[in-house]
Amino acid sequence: MLPADISQNLFLLMQSESFAPFRRKLIRWYATHARLLPWRDVADSYYVWVSEIMLQQTTTQAVQGYFDRFIKAFPTIQSLAEADLDSVNRHWEGLGYYRRCALLHKAAKEIVVRFGGEFPRNYEDVRNLPGVGRYTAGAILSIAFGQRLPILEANTLRLHARLLAMRGSLLHGETNARLWEFAEAILPRTGSGKINQALMDLGSLVCTPKSPKCAECPVIAFCESAKQGLQSVIPSPKTKEQTEYRTEVALLIQKKGKTLLIRYPEGQRWAGLWDFPRAKTEAELPLSSATDTVLQKRLSELTGRKLTQGRLICSLKHSVTKYRITLFFCEGTDAGKTSKAALCETCWATLAELQKLPLNSTARKLVCNITGT
Ligand code: SF4
Repeated sequence: MLPADISQNLFLLMQSESFAPFRRKLIRWYATHARLLPWRDVADSYYVWVSEIMLQQTTTQAVQGYFDRFIKAFPTIQSLAEADLDSVNRHWEGLGYYRRCALLHKAAKEIVVRFGGEFPRNYEDVRNLPGVGRYTAGAILSIAFGQRLPILEANTLRLHARLLAMRGSLLHGETNARLWEFAEAILPRTGSGKINQALMDLGSLVCTPKSPKCAECPVIAFCESAKQGLQSVIPSPKTKEQTEYRTEVALLIQKKGKTLLIRYPEGQRWAGLWDFPRAKTEAELPLSSATDTVLQKRLSELTGRKLTQGRLICSLKHSVTKYRITLFFCEGTDAGKTSKAALCETCWATLAELQKLPLNSTARKLVCNITGT
């Protein structure tokens, strides 16, 4: 059963004849306001796929430069499948959420093996690719192949919730199911890709999270929130995660011109990327060079080596989700292997290799600091 506050709006808006004037106004607006994006109007499913994976959790603005570099390095599905993961990660470096990159690489290999390197057109085949959910499959198939499939991402979720004056948790349960239903009902028989892109642009440029520009909105006549003055309360503001402050230490361990690095294992935030041996410390600030046994134990578990912290080289601050991290980069010494296995893979890299290996963003800054690049 539909929640009482949405059933009537849905009933009114989901009459098929209601959508033709809605779509006409939307498309007229899109003709002059569409965002110029490098993956648009190319009609290449590989470009659309790469862009959609990059856009998961990341803004369009942040993705643009990365997309161009990535496509230049891996111009086809075949070239991506043949590349080694370190090289693919190096081109993703700085974009964050690195699991997406590993899944994209895995999916490219699968497409080569199962579909001869051609991006599949069947919905179930696309959904079964690593890293592809309902939204991504709908976006690729509607934009690249014109299939009548709905999409629902951050911009359209907010836009549709406001059009329907839908309250409650938009990401789950009955409300989410109704939003998908609406996203599908709104589509024409042909040309769904254009409508989907126009809806995303309208959400991003006009129906913005804060202070939506209703006076400029081409579909204001269809908007229940505008009628009821609910734009500022829909969607309900998210409860902010409590910020946590922490201090970490990364060690520069060098021997015979090579630097010790660790690679984070599968399932961790920076899986597949390299970093200096790094761990959390509870030591009081300012950080002293006195022996921090808890830190030593953590570093030893990561590397399988007995490492000791020395003189401070520099410090930097950065944020990861709810964490505000102060990172101290210190010289360190290595007394060799312990008897326990390391949690991370380790390697000794030359300066030239440090430039080529995929590093997390703080490790890249520290490399620039020590090499002066
Ligand atoms: Fe969003 Fe305002 Fe347009 Fe409604 S009228 S869809 S709230 S911009």
